[in-house]
Amino acid sequence: MKPHQLILIVEDDEAISRLLQLAFTQQGHRTLLAKNKQSALREIQTRSPDIILLDLGLPDGDGKELIRTIRSQLRIPIIIVSARSDEEEIISALDEGADDYVTKPFSTNELFARVRSAQRRFLVHNTSSSIITCDVLQIDIEQFTFTKESLPIKLTPTEFNLLKFLMLNRNQVLTHSKILKEVWGIGYQHEMQYLRTYINALRKKIEPNLTSPTYIQTELGIGYRFVCNNPN
Ligand code: CA
Repeated sequence: MKPHQLILIVEDDEAISRLLQLAFTQQGHRTLLAKNKQSALREIQTRSPDIILLDLGLPDGDGKELIRTIRSQLRIPIIIVSARSDEEEIISALDEGADDYVTKPFSTNELFARVRSAQRRFLVHNTSSSIITCDVLQIDIEQFTFTKESLPIKLTPTEFNLLKFLMLNRNQVLTHSKILKEVWGIGYQHEMQYLRTYINALRKKIEPNLTSPTYIQTELGIGYRFVCNNPN
């Protein structure tokens, strides 16, 4: 994680916000605290934080509306901190433009890792190369080619488009409906079976171990994440 960041913690549960504050200040960051939507908006407008940690259940409204407002103004990482039982809420928050999520109870190491990867993504997206490399995998978006350990792998057009979308949005949680909408088009958001079939086909072609995927990881009940540890 980049040093000396200003972290906005939007959370009405004091025990959790104190834990988060402590964890981030110990790492040398500064924190701002907002207990509701209104004060979160005020902090965002006056202090311009670098990262937002957002609880979805706030006393004065829905965290999702806040995401929409933030996204219309700023490009900064938004990480959802939520209860696991709020699966539906997490999905809509990700679809509104949140970057990632952790569920309570979470480890601070897990949270730091999420923040790091969200920050990295905001940097990576500024590059304009048509080639994306993750470990031994390489996709060339313009040439429509894909290689594994420098050997060409044959992909169907749909497999290619799916892999392209996953790799372009690497290290990011992508909900089922978001992938379906982007790869298959509007109207396909609920065709879960299509997605499952193509994810399985892709895994067979790219994963070293099918029972424990390295690249295309399942986010249970939510979607998938393409894990790329050494992107370039
Ligand atoms: Ca809450």
